Amino acid sequence: MNYATIKNCDIANGPGVRVSLFVSGCTHRCPGCFNEEAWDFNYGNPFTQKTIDEILAMLKPSHVKGLTLLGGEPFEPQNQPEIVNLLRQIKAAYPEKSIWAFSGYLFDKDILAGRLGPWEITKELLSYLDVLVDGPFVMGKKDLTLRFRGSSNQRLIDVPASLREERVVIWEDWQGSGRSMK
Ligand code: SF4
Repeated sequence: MNYATIKNCDIANGPGVRVSLFVSGCTHRCPGCFNEEAWDFNYGNPFTQKTIDEILAMLKPSHVKGLTLLGGEPFEPQNQPEIVNLLRQIKAAYPEKSIWAFSGYLFDKDILAGRLGPWEITKELLSYLDVLVDGPFVMGKKDLTLRFRGSSNQRLIDVPASLREERVVIWEDWQGSGRSMK
């Protein structure tokens, strides 16, 4: 896997101060994409153990609340193994830090359906996530007033609650509990 960039003080892509990793490679090609150069899987720099060590160091301060994965597309089958390797190490070092991910795939129809490579890898990746922002960016539904998402079709999904309850549970930070989509 390659990555485009890492931000160590991101306050726009999840709650609190976060480290953000923008991976390379995305097959969605959404019109109006904010990060078109990262569609190419070869864009940016190779993602190595040195990169992971840098991310672990960035996450260490107590004011950093967690990691956010963006792209590109973290759920592309060829990106998932490296993402799992990263998240496994983060959860071992900092179990209290939250993990958010943005994906152009749909949580229920694509990811849970097992369409994105070996299910064991996808399942482990999901096990580390707190919130998934799912769905492609849709220019016609662009809304700058939305928190943590670009278009109104995208959902903020409480992943642990959704897996536990076997339904899509929407993440709601102000209540600390989820709301079902069904
Ligand atoms: S999923 Fe994200 S990175 Fe991929 S084309 Fe759409 S907006 Fe761009």
